[in-house]
Amino acid sequence: MSRTYGSKGMGTGVAAGLACGLVLLAVVPNAVAAERWFKGNTHTHTWWSDGDCPPEVAVKWYKDHGYQFLVISDHNVMLQGEKWVAPKDRWAKGAEIYEQQFGDTLVKRQKGDQVEYRLKTLDELRAMFEQPGSFLLVPGEEISDSAAKKPVHLNGINLAELIPPQRGETVAECTQRNIDAVLAQRKATGRPMFPTVNHPYFGWAMTAEDIAPLRGAQFFEVHNGHPSVHNYGDATRVPVDRMWDVVLSRRLGQLNLPVMYGVASDDAHNYAKIPGGGANPGRGWIMVRAEKLTPESLVEAMEKGDFYPTTGVILKDIRFENNTLTVEIDAKPGVSYKTQFIGTPRNYDRTVTTRPAADHVVYEYSDTIGQVLAEKEGTKVSYTLNGSELYVRAKIISDAKHPNPFAEGDVEVAWTQPFQPVK
Ligand SMILES: [Zn+2]
Ligand SMILES: [Zn+2]
Repeated sequence: MSRTYGSKGMGTGVAAGLACGLVLLAVVPNAVAAERWFKGNTHTHTWWSDGDCPPEVAVKWYKDHGYQFLVISDHNVMLQGEKWVAPKDRWAKGAEIYEQQFGDTLVKRQKGDQVEYRLKTLDELRAMFEQPGSFLLVPGEEISDSAAKKPVHLNGINLAELIPPQRGETVAECTQRNIDAVLAQRKATGRPMFPTVNHPYFGWAMTAEDIAPLRGAQFFEVHNGHPSVHNYGDATRVPVDRMWDVVLSRRLGQLNLPVMYGVASDDAHNYAKIPGGGANPGRGWIMVRAEKLTPESLVEAMEKGDFYPTTGVILKDIRFENNTLTVEIDAKPGVSYKTQFIGTPRNYDRTVTTRPAADHVVYEYSDTIGQVLAEKEGTKVSYTLNGSELYVRAKIISDAKHPNPFAEGDVEVAWTQPFQPVK
């Protein structure tokens, strides 16, 4: 299996230095013999912040459900040091499950009429759950900031140490400052790590205008399983899936910035009742094609764009060779698939119109952005770029109902990352 990728967004500086957004990056053949797909969730909460169960219950769920890696990303905290929790009210059920599943490993104390539990650190969880080559815990934090009364949340993936919210006057400035903080830590430590821009529409915080100009931002959540994140937009705001096209078109066509890759995550908070509403695990994840199950290998693969977000559709292969994007689906029996190849031409209409709504500004973009260039049925489909496109990406849509979806009626889908034509 040979595979070539052009212009994989490695290094903002390299792509930003290219004139006119033309893609002139060298084609880099990859030796892929040892690579395989790893399933992982990059966005998880526990009792360390506002999840409804302790970390062991969350980690066990993911390990039991075929995931190979998990990033626990609690709000403004990493799983370090001593923390005691007195579970009551909404956490009482979590305590019950905890006792059932892990009774003999708990560290408890009585404080007044409360039982308190000492939360396991990441190091302790690693000792309990990790298995070389089959299960890995990656350090993380959801840097949970706000600006202009809007939530600004980013995940720091594989951080070495906690990053406090960096603040900022506007959503865009605040987001950029937090990205810069992750990149500064990476530079200072030499450890591979990156930020993801999370759930843009949580609190209706972000627009494509905020996200497109971000520097050093390679990843954003195109799908997040939390019920409050408005993945599908509303009457005046485009779905996040289409926001991706606006962002890509602006970055590649006008701003001379590299592509941004899409991530799907659970943003899981609720393990006590599954399915049971709330932010359950299992709604969206990523598949990463990496050599090894290590943070370094996963980060490297993701920075090459060698991963895809999914809510249930599994792919055998994604290949981009000779300007042809080929997607091979690992089909489930009895399920039909259609694949949309979506792209924006270089000469797209750059007009943006704005108008005021009750509490926000409405942005309207040309239909030449994010066009469905072809739609194909079957389990192995291809699209050949003719060079007039800024990028093409694929969205694979099944007719299988998601068993525990973000929204009622959702079917399982997957997305490829965007590919740019190589000359
Ligand atoms: Zn968040
Ligand atoms: Zn979150």
